[in-house]
Amino acid sequence: MTNNITYFIANWKMYGNSRSLKALNNIIKLSSIKKFNKVRIIYCPPYTLLNQFAKKFIKTNIMVGAQNCHYKTGYGAYTGYVSAKMIKDTGSKYIILGHSEARAEGDSDNKINIKIKAALKSNLKVIFCIGESLKEKRKHKTNMVLRRQIFSGLKNIKNLENILFAYEPVWSIGTGIIPEVEILKIQIMKIKKILKQKFKYKKNKVLYGGSVSPKNIKSLSKIHEIDGFLIGGASQNEKKFIDIIKKTIN
Ligand code: PEP
Repeated sequence: MTNNITYFIANWKMYGNSRSLKALNNIIKLSSIKKFNKVRIIYCPPYTLLNQFAKKFIKTNIMVGAQNCHYKTGYGAYTGYVSAKMIKDTGSKYIILGHSEARAEGDSDNKINIKIKAALKSNLKVIFCIGESLKEKRKHKTNMVLRRQIFSGLKNIKNLENILFAYEPVWSIGTGIIPEVEILKIQIMKIKKILKQKFKYKKNKVLYGGSVSPKNIKSLSKIHEIDGFLIGGASQNEKKFIDIIKKTIN
């Protein structure tokens, strides 16, 4: 793992309800231990729980983030949608954009670009997800896809300071399959190289996401270039999530 801040982002997807708050006490305790002061934990529950989570974590160093937003920044006649400005108002500091599940629901590269701009304008930090599908991987199109997603998603964005990147191969999300460690290491390095060359920002953080679990975290955390993990399924179980963090840091 990197020697810098290590991110653990919990993507709760469309799971969780008001009873879920009870299962956050141990993570709060863990986050206050000195040894974990270089760990940044970010919970991304559904919209309905953002404010409750933000209140629960108010005196802790755990942050809250949303999983998507509308592309319009402020308010408007968009029935059923939530803007970045409204998300900021819940006490959230982060937002996941470009997740493959949101792309599958119609978030194009262009729409993601507008959403990233809206989120940054609302002072949210962006967790920008990129990743190739199985079909694209089989056709050896991974690099082309990642470049397209990065360049389109960041069009006319010059300052990358408030953007974290999450490399999430679509074929790995929720499948239990992870990339080979050596291949993943190379992929993370390639993404960092693209960002450094094109955007001249050297401190880019690149996380990995896709079936991270207590069983595979030891091998994944050997990759020095990874700045943290975006965790779906396993993050909804507090014990597993804590186990992942402890195994990475210890
Ligand atoms: C995700 O949803 O971003 C994710 C990585 O999910 P999982 O950990 O369940 O594969």
